[in-house]
Amino acid sequence: MLRINELTKFYGQTCAVNNVSLEVPAGCISILLGPNGAGKSTVIKSIAGLLRYSGRVEISGHENKSVEAKRYLGYVAEFPAMYELLTVREHLEFIARAYKLKDWEDRAERLLEGFQLTDKADKLGSDLSKGMQQKLSIICGVLPQPKVCLFDEPLVGLDPHAIKEFKNLVVQMRDEGCTILISTHMIDSVKEFWDSTYIMMDGKIAYHTTREIAEEMNIDIEKIFFDITEKK
Ligand code: ATP
Repeated sequence: MLRINELTKFYGQTCAVNNVSLEVPAGCISILLGPNGAGKSTVIKSIAGLLRYSGRVEISGHENKSVEAKRYLGYVAEFPAMYELLTVREHLEFIARAYKLKDWEDRAERLLEGFQLTDKADKLGSDLSKGMQQKLSIICGVLPQPKVCLFDEPLVGLDPHAIKEFKNLVVQMRDEGCTILISTHMIDSVKEFWDSTYIMMDGKIAYHTTREIAEEMNIDIEKIFFDITEKK
C-alpha cells in the first residue's frame, strides 16, 4: 500500500504541492488526474524519493527513502532516460542484476514480446525511438515485480498496441496485489480500469472518489474534471 501524509513541496517561492494526503490500498489502481502544472509529477517524484519535501510517504509501511521501500518500489518516469550504450536486452540484465532477480528471463521475454520489442532486443538505447524508449522504460520499471508501482504519464508516445498492452499489464499487476499510481491527463485511456481517482489542481487534491462510489452515484469523472479545472 501507498500512503502520503501532508506532502508539501516548494520550488523556490513556488508551492508545487500543497498539503497533499492520499492513500492507495494494495491491489488497487489509483489515477492522479490534473491539468499541466497541477503538481502530479512533483507528487510522483516525491514518492520516488527524488525530491526534498515536507510530509511523510510510506511504501508498504516503510518510509520511502528506506532501503526496504526502494526494494518494493517501481517507478516509470515521465521522460524515459535509457542508457545509450546498452542494448534493450542489456537494460533488462542490468535491472535484474541491480535487484538481484532470480529466474527473470522468461518474464523479460514475455514483456518484450508483449510490447513488440523482441526484434529490437539488440538495438542500442541511443537508437530507440521515443515510443520504444517509453516501452523499455515501462518494462524496466515492472521487471522486478514491485509491490508499489508509480507511472508518470506512461501513455504519452505509445502506439495503440502498446496502450492496450500497458492496460493489460497494470490490470494483471493489480490482480497480483500490486499498488499502482498512474499520473495522466488522458482520462479516456484509463477510464475502464481505475479503482480510485484523485484530481489535482494548483498543487492540491480538489476531488477524490472510488469506482464504487462513482458507479453508485453515476458520477462522470470527465465532467467533474472540467468543472474543477475550468472554473477559474
Ligand atoms: P504536467 O502535466 O505538465 O507534467 P504536472 O501536473 O506534472 O504537469 P509538475 O511538473 O509537478 O506538474 O509542476 C507543478 C508546478 O511546479 C508547476 O507550477 C511547475 O512550473 C513547477 N515546477 C515543476 N518542476 C519545477 C522545477 N524543477 N523548478 C521550478 N518549478 C518547477
